[in-house]
Amino acid sequence: MEKRLFGTNGVRGIVNKELTPQIVFELSLAIGAFFNKGAVFLGRDGRRSSEVFSYLVSAGLMETGCIVYDAGMLPTPALQWATRRGDVNGGVMITASHNPPEYNGIKVMDKDGIEIIREKEENIEKIYFNKEWQLSTWDRIGKKIDKSYMLEEYKESIKSFIDEEKVKAARFKVVVDPGNGVGALVTPYLLRELGCKVLTINGNIDGTFPGRFPEPSLENISDLCTAVKAFKADFGVAHDGDADRAIFVDERGIAHWGDRTFALIEKTFLEENPGETIVTPISSSKVIGEIAQLYGGKIVWTEVGSTIVSRRMQEINAKLGGEENGGIFYGEHIPARDGAMAAALIANILAKTEKPLSQLLNEIPIYYSIKTKVECPHSIKFKVLEMIKEEVYGEKIETIDGVKIWFSNDSWVLIRPSGTEPIYRLFAEAKTEEQAKKLVSEYKTKIKAFIKKAEEK
Ligand code: MG
Repeated sequence: MEKRLFGTNGVRGIVNKELTPQIVFELSLAIGAFFNKGAVFLGRDGRRSSEVFSYLVSAGLMETGCIVYDAGMLPTPALQWATRRGDVNGGVMITASHNPPEYNGIKVMDKDGIEIIREKEENIEKIYFNKEWQLSTWDRIGKKIDKSYMLEEYKESIKSFIDEEKVKAARFKVVVDPGNGVGALVTPYLLRELGCKVLTINGNIDGTFPGRFPEPSLENISDLCTAVKAFKADFGVAHDGDADRAIFVDERGIAHWGDRTFALIEKTFLEENPGETIVTPISSSKVIGEIAQLYGGKIVWTEVGSTIVSRRMQEINAKLGGEENGGIFYGEHIPARDGAMAAALIANILAKTEKPLSQLLNEIPIYYSIKTKVECPHSIKFKVLEMIKEEVYGEKIETIDGVKIWFSNDSWVLIRPSGTEPIYRLFAEAKTEEQAKKLVSEYKTKIKAFIKKAEEK
């Protein structure tokens, strides 16, 4: 197998074990060579290792003659937005998103603000493994320019898509839980500027993530649910470590998974923009397709991965995309998922409809979904997938990413091999929780049997 550095989310690893200073510096020399002496935006999240990584990345970029536009600490979508609108060759974000505190990572953005495509990653990998970078002559070493004021303009961009007067008049009470991540730099201030009374929990940026795990899963945000009830807030919002995702809690203190709020945003968007196309991965709820049908929209289903959604949106000029994990892509602001944008959109919808969030979400058809995984060695993943494809007997099959089987009773299962881990991911959705559970256990057993068979061959 060829040597690789980039996974599905840039280069990720455990700090000073997998990602040593040497690797980060040499990778940055390779990225600098790739960007060919141009200007490059640089940002970082609030992890313990992000500051030192930003020195290493700056050094690598400058040594290869690039000009570093240093945006400092900020959410990933803010860096992407700055890169897209700036006159630069690309951007670099130092973040490990929702990973545990000991991890960090490096994401490389193209000049359109979206992560670079696989072929460009291969270019960088080739430069890195062959040490093909060239150090600048002494008089051509790059410099660093402070761009830490970018956040103000980024917030203005979000506000330009919101009915500010209406939201201000509603005087919402909101609890924000950035999970000690960089979302703390934007969402509380943005909502305050929109006239909301904001209470923030886990609002101090701390790379040890003392408040909760950086993944905003429903189990991890119970404090937010409690705070929403105690504060009698209209809603609560939780971000992951780099604030590109947003999970919402309604005024009763109940947290909702991402595709429910995505469906609500989709519904409002299509009411205002009938005929538009919505981009979403094949792992999203059936409800996304139903809302599109009801409100005159079209759906483009994609493989799983936020970069794939971004790229597809860009290709077909789609204005809205979303993921089940709380990623909302608002194309006119930036076709990349953005947690603060999502929070502003929800406030906008509440102000416009004058209905509580729980009621708005209740008006969306309800499905129950379950996710699980089955261990499977990389070497037999392909064989197993072929076996599954041969044996499926569902009503309708979709093979955009893995195998998705639709059943006649409004339920489906998606079986897909993980690109990075030795596992198969299994998603099921049905009209009742029991049905979803039944599907998961049934297919878990089947996959295990296929794996056993593949191992014996
Ligand atoms: Mg993230």
